[in-house]
Amino acid sequence: MNHDRDSDILADSLNAAQREAVEAPPGPLLILAGAGSGKTRVLTRRIAWLVRRCDESPLAILAVTFTNKASREMRGRIERLLGFSVSGMWMGTFHGLSHRLLRRHSEEAGLREGFEIVDSDDQLRLIRRILRDMNLDEKQWPPRQAQWFINGHKEEGRRPADLQRADRPLEEQLRRIYREYENACRRLNVVDFAELMLRSHELLSQNETLREHYREQFRHVLVDEFQDTNAIQYSWLKLFAAGHKNLFAVGDDDQSIYGWRGARVENILRFQQDFPATRVIRLEQNYRSTAVILKAANAVIANNRKRLGKNLWTEGEAGVPIRVYAAFNDNDEARFVLGRIQKWVGQGNPRSACAVLYRSNAQSRAFEEALVDAGMPYRVYGGLRFFERAEIKDALAYLRLVSSRDSDSAFERVVNMPPRGIGGRTMEEVRAAAKAQNCSLWSAAADLAQGRQLTPRAAHALHRFHELIETINRDTAGLPLEEVVEATIQMSGLAAHHKNDQSERAEARLENLAELPSAARNFTHDGDAEAEPLVEFLNHATLEAGETQAGEWEDCVQLMSLHSAKGLEFPLVFLTGMEDGLFPHQRNTEDPMLLEEERRLCYVGMTRAMRMLYMTHAEVRRLHGREHCTMPSRFLAEVPEEFTEHVRAAGRTSPPPPPSPAKWTAGHNWHSAAMRPGARVVHKKFGEGTVLQMEGEAKVRVNFKGNIRWLMVALAKLEVVK
Ligand code: ATP
Ligand code: MG
Repeated sequence: MNHDRDSDILADSLNAAQREAVEAPPGPLLILAGAGSGKTRVLTRRIAWLVRRCDESPLAILAVTFTNKASREMRGRIERLLGFSVSGMWMGTFHGLSHRLLRRHSEEAGLREGFEIVDSDDQLRLIRRILRDMNLDEKQWPPRQAQWFINGHKEEGRRPADLQRADRPLEEQLRRIYREYENACRRLNVVDFAELMLRSHELLSQNETLREHYREQFRHVLVDEFQDTNAIQYSWLKLFAAGHKNLFAVGDDDQSIYGWRGARVENILRFQQDFPATRVIRLEQNYRSTAVILKAANAVIANNRKRLGKNLWTEGEAGVPIRVYAAFNDNDEARFVLGRIQKWVGQGNPRSACAVLYRSNAQSRAFEEALVDAGMPYRVYGGLRFFERAEIKDALAYLRLVSSRDSDSAFERVVNMPPRGIGGRTMEEVRAAAKAQNCSLWSAAADLAQGRQLTPRAAHALHRFHELIETINRDTAGLPLEEVVEATIQMSGLAAHHKNDQSERAEARLENLAELPSAARNFTHDGDAEAEPLVEFLNHATLEAGETQAGEWEDCVQLMSLHSAKGLEFPLVFLTGMEDGLFPHQRNTEDPMLLEEERRLCYVGMTRAMRMLYMTHAEVRRLHGREHCTMPSRFLAEVPEEFTEHVRAAGRTSPPPPPSPAKWTAGHNWHSAAMRPGARVVHKKFGEGTVLQMEGEAKVRVNFKGNIRWLMVALAKLEVVK
């Protein structure tokens, strides 16, 4: 029995290079190899080998994986190989393992027992509170900018005390905010994600006894996806491995996709300098994908200049060509993907073997809609479903208030979002008044805004909120649903709020918000003509958000961003939104370094596919509320023709008409150039009017013979009369 297992662990399904890695003598070892060459498999086998053959205790092993999902899977595999449970083993993500250390040694780490972890949203709330306490205006000091500043420094291992007084006022203020934030965290006994890493690093680097203890305990340190470690993570690994140097790292420079978050591919080069005796093993045989998929992915990544270089081959079958589909628009793309999934499932294949991958989370919306309509179970990994996302819920709450003032939950959600100086104390008064008068928060607030009970400032803030909702209601009356949604996002201040913020997350939030009008438009098309469209739309959104998503154990289609797909594999993969500007992402097309990271992301995406790969793009895509004619992604052009096959549009069931020229002009900037105060314009419904005012290029105020309205340039389809 034991013998069988040993042969499982060792000889069984390992090639010579893999075997060399698994059985390597102690010492620093770096496996540099391309996608699907068995890096993760080798790391798993190495652990089993150490336990089984070298009689190491599982507790002597520290293994770092990139996600919790990967860690769970690896643990399961090791247990199957060994035949017993390894539940106490130190295997997990950097954050998870750091947390475990801090929990064990909270006192030495300067934390009180029972400390809590705050997630990114909680962290932001705390920063807001600090800004208020410091009497700083959020408009001038966007909380997200402070958050980005704080986390960035923590990831580089810097405390406020390590930062010099800055000459630039902006930096100096951020430094003070960081200091106040640190004090607040200490008082509240909370740690954020970046703090987990930093503090556990400090704990070990400053406490020699503990450091020695763990160095003795963990005689082997292993890390997967090494190319994506940042400075502090690498330093953290070295703390454990510096003595015995038994550091086993596996990675692929071509799959480094977290440069934007501070990950350093250079760690791969530093590794060999820091541990001069490093043995480097390359794995070159790919076991995952068909030859066609592998060759195509190799051809794409060959366009990157900054590479360590490798040669990846397979003995596997050639397989079918990569199917490229040019959709009319994003809905057509979703319909196509759904159709292929249905066909696949109809042939008796599991749903969970299909993955739909996209560059930005906002793209999930169209696919979710198609899947829900078809009753096809799906799960969105590494993110919330569209209607569950915070910014979408905010926008829906405004719409709900516009449609029914008495919705208390909507009122609570947005009364101070974006922040408008309506604090906790004011809200307590509003709640108390509502309770006493047995009325809605809205009416209670209206009364309080008139009376003398509140400070003039608070009363004024409530009054302004009241007016805002009434104005949105008035100005959007009679507009098509899509325009109501778009106008509400703008007028509420939600769009501007996220626009002011520089962070990566804010950009994603804006992209999501820009998707909401499209959701409304689709809904109108399918909706019941009799019902009040806004009310129906809100019900639809609630139902979709409330419907529990398929559990992890359930057989369901997998939706995820390219970033979340790292390390995974699926027989059938759809790489969607292959359009320049979307993928590669607009912001990363100019800088060659950033473009190379986008290309690595494309390589990651393509190499997830085992048997079949589809690459789709839409000729017209709605982005940020406008329809854009798109160009196919430059990465598509890098896939050699010989490996692709274009799916003919004839396969479509009912081809949607191409966008009409009139609709199309609305998306172009030249149109708004002609539109300036004084210009004469024509609106389909309101007739002829005169432009009174412009707000940037997005909004225009028009007097239609006494009927004065704010309209969205992108949506109102105004014709300028020459
Ligand atoms: P990635 O870079 O995407 O993380 P990887 O290098 O970690 O990929 P693995 O996920 O370990 O690759 O392996 C890819 C696939 O190939 C898995 O399904 C694995 O079981 C299989 N595989 C690896 N080595 C062998 C082998 N020697 N014989 C058969 N199958 C193998
Ligand atoms: Mg892997």
